[in-house]
Amino acid sequence: MKILITGGAGFIGSAVVRRAIADGHDVVNLDALTYSANLENVAGVARDPRYAFEQADVCDAARIAEIFARHRPDAVMHLAAESHNDRAIEGPLDFVRANVMGTAILLEAARAHWNGLPDARKAAFRFHHVSTDEVFGALGEDGDFTEQTPYDPNSPYSASKAGADHLVRAWGRTYGLPVVLTNCSNNYGPYQFPEKLIPTVITRALEGKTIPVYGDGRQVRDWLHVDDHAEALLLVLGKGRLGETYCIGGDASKRNLEVVQLLCAHLDKYAPANTSHAEKISFVTDRPGHDFRYSIDAAKLERELGWRPRMPLEAGLEDTVRWYVENSDWVQRIRERGFHSERLGLVQA
Ligand code: NAD
Repeated sequence: MKILITGGAGFIGSAVVRRAIADGHDVVNLDALTYSANLENVAGVARDPRYAFEQADVCDAARIAEIFARHRPDAVMHLAAESHNDRAIEGPLDFVRANVMGTAILLEAARAHWNGLPDARKAAFRFHHVSTDEVFGALGEDGDFTEQTPYDPNSPYSASKAGADHLVRAWGRTYGLPVVLTNCSNNYGPYQFPEKLIPTVITRALEGKTIPVYGDGRQVRDWLHVDDHAEALLLVLGKGRLGETYCIGGDASKRNLEVVQLLCAHLDKYAPANTSHAEKISFVTDRPGHDFRYSIDAAKLERELGWRPRMPLEAGLEDTVRWYVENSDWVQRIRERGFHSERLGLVQA
């Protein structure tokens, strides 16, 4: 199958591109190459004859229509988005533009393309929207998010993703576009831009800098290795029921501070310093509107499609630390582009 993957130069998108090529699919990687994109993430497949790259903004309707007409994909996996909560606090309109308008424009282009397909290809076509569990808001000490959890987003990022989810369902119900959706918990693994928690901790520690922990570090996240996510996404694309939503999670909830301490222990092993890396932990002002806890119940995905995460969290964190230690040149090139994992997203009075 030929899959148009948006955001395929980003962290999760590139894992999906690599996996899709390995599974024997043709891939068109459509990405605007914003600050978080990195074509090095897909260098291993770039010469594959089944791989094509298109630099394009999902908000550019004419260009997106032209890409659909030229490549005539069998499916779309939509991952392109502004993805970082702290940046959304500083520039919310960029998130509304890329995540809400961009999704609407992509849906319209997909609909025009789908309408023109012959019957068999039309019936098999899928538009898969890749979303986050953050659309459900925050949990207290107990409970899990499921596909039935009402939407209650708290941040400009999660609200923009919620808006996109609603648009995708509306295009399914109104126009009959064959859609599937997934809402996933926090991802980690190689090639993650060093602005999110785990790569920020690792890369700053390797540079001998302080390790920032927001608030008291008691927030709980359910961590999933990016390769497990990529596998789940391709499974849902191929076998998920039409119009359905699937929650995807790692069944691996941990407090942020515990994750940071585990990372420090692995860093002590793979990149020993004079003192334990944990001594560099510094508690900093919390993110405004920081959700307390996310936790996913992925039972529907397991029941219907037999998926379970493979990578245990502790082994995945160790692998990730090792990857960043061994790929310091990948981080160095990001530093040379001017990004130094500085703090963003503190609301100014
Ligand atoms: P990322 O920031 O690493 O990658 C996003 C990619 O989208 C980048 O390559 C960027 O260039 C591209 N992009 C941004 N705006 C674009 C536009 N207007 N047109 C075309 N391309 C554009 O993000 P990520 O962490 O890989 O997240 C990918 C998707 O998965 C997002 O939709 C995000 O909401 C979702 N998601 C992320 C997580 C997570 O933990 N990171 C969890 C659940 C869902």
